[in-house]
Amino acid sequence: MAGKLIAGNWKMNGSVTFATELVEGLLGKLNEGSVSSDFVVCPPAALLGTVLSLTKDTDLAVGGQDCHANVSGAHTGDTSAELLKDIGCGYVITGHSERRTDHGETNVDVNAKSAAAIKAGLTPIICIGETEEERVSGGTLNVIKLQVTESLPDDCDPDNIVLAYEPVWAIGTGKTATPEDVADVHNFIRSLLNDRFGEDAAKKIRILYGGSVKPENAAELLAVSNVDGALVGGASLKVEDFWAIGVR
Ligand code: PEP
Repeated sequence: MAGKLIAGNWKMNGSVTFATELVEGLLGKLNEGSVSSDFVVCPPAALLGTVLSLTKDTDLAVGGQDCHANVSGAHTGDTSAELLKDIGCGYVITGHSERRTDHGETNVDVNAKSAAAIKAGLTPIICIGETEEERVSGGTLNVIKLQVTESLPDDCDPDNIVLAYEPVWAIGTGKTATPEDVADVHNFIRSLLNDRFGEDAAKKIRILYGGSVKPENAAELLAVSNVDGALVGGASLKVEDFWAIGVR
């Protein structure tokens, strides 16, 4: 496995001016010298063209925030994985908790979207994570097991998927899981992947942590066992913060 993967989820934020400034800022940092982390930005669909034209032939990867499970058809407002690939994306986030909540996406939907992404040649960043209620009731590992089992496509290639553990209660709230809690869940996810793919293949899969990651807590979280990177929302909207998460 290469270095840490630091993925920025801009959510429904930004403008052409904002995207241009943010991407130019990150490219400026990347041009200063080689870094051990890999960076990917996931802007809203309407800004992908702007971002992709700026990042062409650079080391800054680009991803969508969602894709449809079908290649094409009567799905107004949706974007296919094929199209994301065609315009130059390398990644797509699938199953983010905000999509699970806002759009009622189930593990079955996430599985189909992730399969479409893989078929198109994209790397899906497959999001899983428990709600506060599930954590308080002691159900975290059961939820995670079900999400891993059901959200990962049958024939998925361990070389070409990323998982993101994002406790729902930590997303955009300023609350972060403790390093101990993160270790418990990430080690558990790794053991599920070992069972499914075998240890050699499973170790290629990067497991990101997401949930209020910022420069102040990144070092501690990224040092936790089986944490191979971060999925960052709010702090990915500022060049200095996003950069500082991956480069310390
Ligand atoms: C996210 O959007 O996936 C996320 C983790 O957001 P934040 O970093 O703002 O909690």
